[in-house]
Amino acid sequence: AAKDGGRGRYHFYSNDLHSAAEERAQLEEDLRDAISQGGLELYYQPVIYAHDETIAGFEALLRWNHPTKGWLSPAKFIPVAEDTGLISAIGEWAIRAACDDLATWPENVRCAVNVSPLQFANPQLPTVITNAIAHANIDPSRLELEITESVFLNDDEGTDAMFAALKRVGVRLALDDFGTGYSSLGYLKKAPFDKIKIDQSFVRGATKPGSRNGAIITSITSLAEALGMDTTAEGVETMDELELVRSLGCSHIQGYIYSKALSAEAALARLQQGVNMVAKGPRSARAFR
Ligand code: C2E
Ligand code: MG
Ligand code: MG
Ligand code: MG
Repeated sequence: AAKDGGRGRYHFYSNDLHSAAEERAQLEEDLRDAISQGGLELYYQPVIYAHDETIAGFEALLRWNHPTKGWLSPAKFIPVAEDTGLISAIGEWAIRAACDDLATWPENVRCAVNVSPLQFANPQLPTVITNAIAHANIDPSRLELEITESVFLNDDEGTDAMFAALKRVGVRLALDDFGTGYSSLGYLKKAPFDKIKIDQSFVRGATKPGSRNGAIITSITSLAEALGMDTTAEGVETMDELELVRSLGCSHIQGYIYSKALSAEAALARLQQGVNMVAKGPRSARAFR
């Protein structure tokens, strides 16, 4: 066993034994505990109208304060949740929690919830959503489901039927991370999306000289507009990026320039304090209305 003396020289021993597979198994066990003990939280990142800089709504984002590792990014634990099927329980809880929080906000404010491909393949999803909406007593059009292109990977009648069922429930649909996957225009033709979310990899670097990102963003926003869809530019961090994506026709903006994800209490407070927000970034003194 690893000896304690000698400036921790032997500690590599325990690291060796702690393989990636073990770490994953531990994470799975911890995740089960978190689900049963209420250790997961939803945080809400404001989504801003480009035209008047008021709050259009929020995107619900999972947060996990792990007992020993501290705050874990969803990028770290969502894959584990997907591989183990735990995403079904987590996803159902997230939909219910988001609807309950939505009920405490003004009626013109929306909330988006991310839906994993595994949830999308579950025929019970429309029922889960219908029940959550009924429990919270909210208008279904205030709930927006964010779906990535990966749901089209096993494209079959089930996919079409799910889109139709969700439309009947009355929720809005957004295509998340657009541009990072196959980005087939066929998806836009067959699936009834209300919004395209332009992935932050296109926003990042778009202001650099010679970047092609601006041309890509322009073509996405004009396509979306022609199809009657909204667009959100994701991951807008600087004033230059903000000015660029507004000038390229994005209808909604999301990013640290306005706000990171907030606790439900802080999100409500942000709504109650009105639409006044101060942007961070290079020209941080600039205030927005
Ligand atoms: P996403 O749906 O594309 O969410 C946007 C991500 O970008 C969030 O990361 C958000 O915090 C981050 N972000 C927003 N503005 C900025 C910015 O200005 N700069 C930078 N660098 N990042 C920004 P987060 O919260 O770590 O979530 C990562 C991913 O995890 C999400 O990507 C989504 O795919 C997944 N996820 C989060 N919550 C859920 C959930 O409840 N269910 C499912 N199935 N997936 C979720
Ligand atoms: Mg999303
Ligand atoms: Mg995204
Ligand atoms: Mg993403």
